[in-house]
Amino acid sequence: MSETGPEAQTSTPHKQGAEPNEQNIEPDTRDWADVLEAGCAECGFTGDEDVIAVPGYVSASAQAWDEVLARENADIRPRPDRWSDVEYAAHVRDILDLFRERTQLIVSQSAPTLPNFDGDAVAIESDYQHQNPAEVAVELRAAALAYAADLAQITDEQWQRTGYRSDGREFTVTSLTRYGFHELKHHLQDVGA
Ligand SMILES: [Zn+2]
Repeated sequence: MSETGPEAQTSTPHKQGAEPNEQNIEPDTRDWADVLEAGCAECGFTGDEDVIAVPGYVSASAQAWDEVLARENADIRPRPDRWSDVEYAAHVRDILDLFRERTQLIVSQSAPTLPNFDGDAVAIESDYQHQNPAEVAVELRAAALAYAADLAQITDEQWQRTGYRSDGREFTVTSLTRYGFHELKHHLQDVGA
């Protein structure tokens, strides 16, 4: 999963692998921002969701992840080439922080360039595979509540503010929020929650 801008790629591809280690996770190079225009048939995201409902969804998602991370096999990859529940959760935790940071940038600066994020690289650097499910649950909840609290403060004017990812694609706070919402929705589907 490489989340390389708000552009990015956060679903784990399914390729053949032999050894149960992170080397078998094929980096995802898709530009997932296309779901904003096309929707996502995999998870049912339409691209025109009401952003006012997103803070509530973000907060509620922490409970869903608590249940996922309490599973007996949360730290076991179902297949060598697919992330375990705790790896998905660690990714979501970091994505929540990333989208909160990007939102703060757009709100506080004039047309900022948003930082890139290579989710696949971070997964390896941060050793998602060996993170503790209970600890990740606590961190994910904190990240979700912080992001939801920030979103709940966005004003009518701020929803229209713009920022740019490094390739020039424009995001408003509205489209960025929908994009973040898709990440949450899609990854909960990835873990069957
Ligand atoms: Zn999706």
